[in-house]
Amino acid sequence: MDVGTRLFRSALLGLAGNRVARKFSERYGMKLGASRFVAGETMEAAIEQAKRINQQGVTVTLDYLGESVSSLEEAKGCELAYLDLLQAIRASGIDGNISLKPTQFGLAINEDSCLASIRKVTKEAACLGLFVRLDMEDSPWTDATLRIVRTLKAEGYKNIGTVIQACLYRSRQDVRALSAEGINLRLVKGAYKEPPSIAIPSKRKVDANMRHLIRTRLDSGVYTAIATHDEEIIRWVKSYTRTHNIPRTAFEFQMLYGIRTPLQAALAREGYTVRSYVPFGRSWYPYFVRRLAERPANVLFIARSLFKR
Ligand code: FAD
Repeated sequence: MDVGTRLFRSALLGLAGNRVARKFSERYGMKLGASRFVAGETMEAAIEQAKRINQQGVTVTLDYLGESVSSLEEAKGCELAYLDLLQAIRASGIDGNISLKPTQFGLAINEDSCLASIRKVTKEAACLGLFVRLDMEDSPWTDATLRIVRTLKAEGYKNIGTVIQACLYRSRQDVRALSAEGINLRLVKGAYKEPPSIAIPSKRKVDANMRHLIRTRLDSGVYTAIATHDEEIIRWVKSYTRTHNIPRTAFEFQMLYGIRTPLQAALAREGYTVRSYVPFGRSWYPYFVRRLAERPANVLFIARSLFKR
């Protein structure tokens, strides 16, 4: 990645956390082009999109957008929204599960209450035969997120997992430990702005670390979601699993709603499990800005589509 792109990406990621920009943008609804990456502002819209995606042979994980809530009342609202979402998944018959962000459940306010809230959602999901994944946010929340997952796993919940980011130096150690504990992981490169003291600064090295983590997980036999749009890595996973006799039931590919949609369907047609991450809700701004930062060309694409209106 050249210096200009790196600076641009860093500036955009800075904007993702800006509350004023967030309020301003969300007031304009999805008109800023967010609908390319967000399935809608309501649960009903997301369920409709999920049905459409399922018809392509692709399963989903639904994410009710929201993060860094500033009160426990807001966190409670998210818990209720997720409980409704679980019922809606079952009632609509879609093939899918849920992803959630711990800071949306009040992690930054009170870890115990966040744990209690996530426990309620996980328990309800278990009753309905659904899986819950805790997304991984920026590094101040890594340890607490892993603590919550380990606590719930120790309490006997088998339907819970989390995410590990290849950009962090600590991740090799985390993946080894979590694999030994049998914890279901999604592996990603990492979407947040992190200091160089803890994060690998070069994209090439992050890509190499991603492959290392994937190999460790595939060799461990513990179920793994490989979440990337990187076609070279996807090709390599297909070849590695073939030559090492790793069954397709041991892993799945995951991609984001609106990104590489034909590739998602093509992999599903080849017989791989593919899951599309389908975000919805009114708090779409930080998620949207992270998607722009991943690919600066997206900013041009959005700008062009705004001028075409
Ligand atoms: P890259 O090397 O960044 O991209 C490879 C190619 O994919 C690019 O050349 C481009 O063609 C395409 N591409 C990638 N991003 C975009 C985009 N935004 N728009 C258009 N094309 C794009 N990160 C976290 O930190 N925590 C999480 O919990 C988390 N969950 C995720 C769940 C899923 C299902 C996925 C797919 C990603 C998740 N991420 C998460 C984001 C992840 O960390 C990366 O930021 C993101 O996936 C981009 O990296 P990449 O692996 O696709 O590879």
